Amino acid sequence: RGRNAGKQFIEYSAQFGLEAVNRHRLLQGLNEAIEHNHLFLMYQPKVRLHDRAVVGLEALVRWRTASGEFISPAEFIPVAEMSGLIKKVDLRVFEMSLVALQTLKHLGLAVPLSFNVTVSDLEDEVFTHALQRLVDSNSELKQLLEIELTESQAMADYQQISPLLKQLIDAGIGVNIDDFGTGYSSLKHLTDLTATHLKIDRSFVDSMLTDCAGEHVVDVIIRLGKRFNFTVVAEGVETEAQQQKLMQLGCDIGQGYLFAKPMVLDDLIIWLKNNNIA
Ligand code: C2E
Ligand code: CA
Ligand code: CA
Ligand code: CA
Repeated sequence: RGRNAGKQFIEYSAQFGLEAVNRHRLLQGLNEAIEHNHLFLMYQPKVRLHDRAVVGLEALVRWRTASGEFISPAEFIPVAEMSGLIKKVDLRVFEMSLVALQTLKHLGLAVPLSFNVTVSDLEDEVFTHALQRLVDSNSELKQLLEIELTESQAMADYQQISPLLKQLIDAGIGVNIDDFGTGYSSLKHLTDLTATHLKIDRSFVDSMLTDCAGEHVVDVIIRLGKRFNFTVVAEGVETEAQQQKLMQLGCDIGQGYLFAKPMVLDDLIIWLKNNNIA
C-alpha cells in the first residue's frame, strides 16, 4: 500500500510540477508580449435585433507570439487573473481601445466600444487612475466607452467597487454586467446593481430553443432587465431562430456569429462602412 501511495504522489507531483512550469512560461511570455506589443484587439459588433443596425462593439484581446502562433484568451486570461498580470493586460486593452475609438471617430464611424475588466483592475490604483483621468477629462471619447464586468465579480466585491461604477456611469461610461445569469445574483442585489447593460450569457441563448428552462431563464432576465431599466444584450446569437425568439421575448440587442465575428480594425472599418450605424 505504501509503495502505491508513493507512486501516486510522484505521478501527482510530476503533473503538478509540469503545470506550474507551463504556467510560469506562459506568464513570462505574456509579460514580454505586453512589452513588445504582441497583444492586439479584435472587435465584435453588437446590433439592434429588429433591424441589425450597429449599436456597439466589444474589444477582445488576442496574443500573437513572436513565432506567429496565436494563443487564445481562454487560455491566458485565467492564468493572468491568478497572477495579477491581468491588470497590465487590461490597461493595454484600455489604451488600445481609446486609440481605436479615436480612429473610428476620425472616419465618421464612431460607435460605443466596450472592453473587459476584472474586479482586480477596479481595485488597482494604476488602473483606476487611468480611468479617472479619462473621467476628469472632457474627451468626447468617454461617451463612447463602456466596460464589461462579469456578474460573479460584480457581486463578489459589490460594496467596494459600486462607488467607482457609479462614477463611471455619471461620466457617461457604460457598465455591462457580463455573463449574466451565471453568477447566482439574489434579487435583492439586482435592484441596486450599478450598471447600464445586462449581457445574457451565451449558454442560455444556446439552450433557449431546445430546453424550456433555458427559454425561461432568458425570459426572466429580459423582464428583470427592462423592469430595472437596463439595456439587455444577448451574446452568442448564431441563428435566425434565436434572433426571432429573442425579439419575441423583448430583447433589444444581440451579439454573435449570426451578425459578425470578431474582426481586426481594418476589416471592421470596411464592415462598418457596409452596415447601418444606429
Ligand atoms: P466573453 O466576454 O464572454 O466574450 C465573448 C466571447 O464569445 C469571445 O470569445 C467571442 O469571440 C465569443 N463569441 C462571440 N459570438 C459568438 C458566437 O456566436 N458563438 C460562439 N460560439 N462564440 C462567440 P474570445 O474572444 O475567445 O474571448 C473569450 C473570453 O476572454 C471573453 O469572454 C472574455 O471573458 C475574455 N477576454 C477577452 N478579452 C479580454 C480582455 O481584454 N480582458 C479580460 N479581462 N478578459 C478578456
Ligand atoms: Ca465580455
Ligand atoms: Ca459569456
Ligand atoms: Ca460575455
